[in-house]
Amino acid sequence: MFKKILIANRGEIALRVIRAAREMGIATVAVHSTADADAMHVRMADESICIGPPSSAQSYLSFPAIISACEITGADAIHPGYGFLSENAQFVQIVEDHGLTFIGPTAEHIRVMGDKITAKDTMKALGVPCVPGSDGGVATLEEAKAIAEEMDYPVIIKATAGGGGRGMKVAIAAADMESAFMTARAEGKSNFGNDEVYIEKYLTTPRHIEIQVFGDGKGRAVHLGERDCSLQRRHQKVFEEAPSPSITAEERAYIGKVCADAVANINYIGAGTIEFLYENGEFYFIEMNTRLQVEHPVTEAIFGVDLVREQILVAAGEDMSFHQDDLKINGHAIEVRINAERLPDFTPCPGRITQYHAPGGLGVRMDSALYDGYVIPPYYDSLIGKLIVHGRDRPEALARLKRALGELIVDGIDTTVPLFHALLAEPGIHTGQYNIHWLEHWLEGYST
Ligand code: ADP
Repeated sequence: MFKKILIANRGEIALRVIRAAREMGIATVAVHSTADADAMHVRMADESICIGPPSSAQSYLSFPAIISACEITGADAIHPGYGFLSENAQFVQIVEDHGLTFIGPTAEHIRVMGDKITAKDTMKALGVPCVPGSDGGVATLEEAKAIAEEMDYPVIIKATAGGGGRGMKVAIAAADMESAFMTARAEGKSNFGNDEVYIEKYLTTPRHIEIQVFGDGKGRAVHLGERDCSLQRRHQKVFEEAPSPSITAEERAYIGKVCADAVANINYIGAGTIEFLYENGEFYFIEMNTRLQVEHPVTEAIFGVDLVREQILVAAGEDMSFHQDDLKINGHAIEVRINAERLPDFTPCPGRITQYHAPGGLGVRMDSALYDGYVIPPYYDSLIGKLIVHGRDRPEALARLKRALGELIVDGIDTTVPLFHALLAEPGIHTGQYNIHWLEHWLEGYST
């Protein structure tokens, strides 16, 4: 087992990893930029080391800074959290070249799944159902138009290197095609350095259903059911739950097995998420994320497992601690993402926290790096906390969410908490009958 893990991240996810490591008796190293010298992850780790100025490019994304930090502190493994370097195949290669262990999948798996066209081809070959679309990349506007005509509008043009909701444009009809094609290409180029795009049928009323998988790298893999992340704004998740209110046990067993078999087949190691759109009883693969997801706690809540602990175990060459038959769903869990943003426009709102009080009680988990007096720096993601509730069933989880949100105090800045209070007053949330566009429509009529 590892002696010391360096966490190449910040915020709540750095704390999440420190907590798992500490329970396993493993020492931790926090890295931080000069802007994060007073951050909670720095205080909570056994050791900390400054790796550069505020800009992520020169700190949390800097290969030399992070590798040097490992060498100076004697860390033998790196946990990347999510975001930053978590899906950077080149970084993984460099970590391994330095004789260190990357707690996550291999560079090769990250590379394959990081390119959406290759990922789709791979999944198709492994028997995973995919969204109908172009056969690989589409080079010219004429070709794109021909494919869209044949497939029928609406279609979505996607940058193969895209992520975080960027590099995707919908064409409702032929007239939109030129602008959608050019914009998706330009976004791919400017955000990800790759202008290759492909086309998919645009599904008009799907839910976003993702399957949590976990592999031991030796051909054994399990699934931990689905998370429903249909409540989205600008293709970004806002509210996630498990299990999905719209999936039956039979559907879960079917798609779960398809996913577990697929990753077992490629000797996948660690945590991964296979994302689908789900419409009219059919699952359509869209992408695979080769990392721990922001919303992993809802899965942990209903299965009673610690996914970070399992990631550390398999990275160290040990077996995962569960088999498929051990994994039984217990109740219902919901996560809401609390961002430092001003509503109704979601403008980032960094600043000083004058008062912070986390909710507690039965079935409540608050993953956050906030504390009284903390100053949220303006340089990073606006996620400042995740509130996760667990109940025996969905109505109990919703009632608990309302109660816990009522206890939460974050003063000094604006947050997205009022949005969740408002959503919980909506009958649509209680019936669970929404698709990926529901929240955007609802927000059109929302004011604070
Ligand atoms: P990213 O990598 O940027 O997160 P994804 O491919 O995972 O992009 O898609 C993110 C979201 O975009 C989905 O959850 C869904 O809301 C929307 N989306 C993606 N593909 C389609 C499609 N073919 N039809 C309809 N919506 C889609």
